[in-house]
Amino acid sequence: MRAPRIYQNIKRNVLNHPELKIQISCVLTSITAGCIEDLVKEWGPIARGGIIFDFFTPVTNLDEALWLNWKERDRLIDQILALKRKYPGTINMLDSTLDLMRSKKAKRVTDNCEFRLRAFALGSTGETKGKCMMGDNADCDRCGCVVPFHMATLSNRRLMIKEGIKSLLASN
Ligand code: SF4
Repeated sequence: MRAPRIYQNIKRNVLNHPELKIQISCVLTSITAGCIEDLVKEWGPIARGGIIFDFFTPVTNLDEALWLNWKERDRLIDQILALKRKYPGTINMLDSTLDLMRSKKAKRVTDNCEFRLRAFALGSTGETKGKCMMGDNADCDRCGCVVPFHMATLSNRRLMIKEGIKSLLASN
């Protein structure tokens, strides 16, 4: 989706800095949704900080062609969970976070977005970006940014205990 050669430049930079624990963040859109397993296979061995996925978030008055509908988003969440099992250690997202991003649960999280309530984002010249990193016009009801869902997981004691038990069982 980016300009020519950017992909190769990013990859070269990552390969040239094995001392850094770089995390790859991929936004899933109507264009990239079909590439998830290819991306995990290609970047899993070199992204030492793991891979995370977001979904495209529509912004008011801007083109929505990249938005995935909820049915497709739910299907991709199932795929990412399956890929976590198939390629252990590559996708650095908690199962509970992915689960909160599903169509039936997302609005409860975004209505109380902890990023909006507790954090702030700055633009490249230091100006504040409004309610979040995507600016004031981002559509909270269709937010695909992983951050509010990850924050909601971390602040939910029941989910964190569940994740802790899962990780203990996996290490035994
Ligand atoms: S669009 Fe921004 S403010 Fe709204 S839920 Fe998403 S991260 Fe939070």
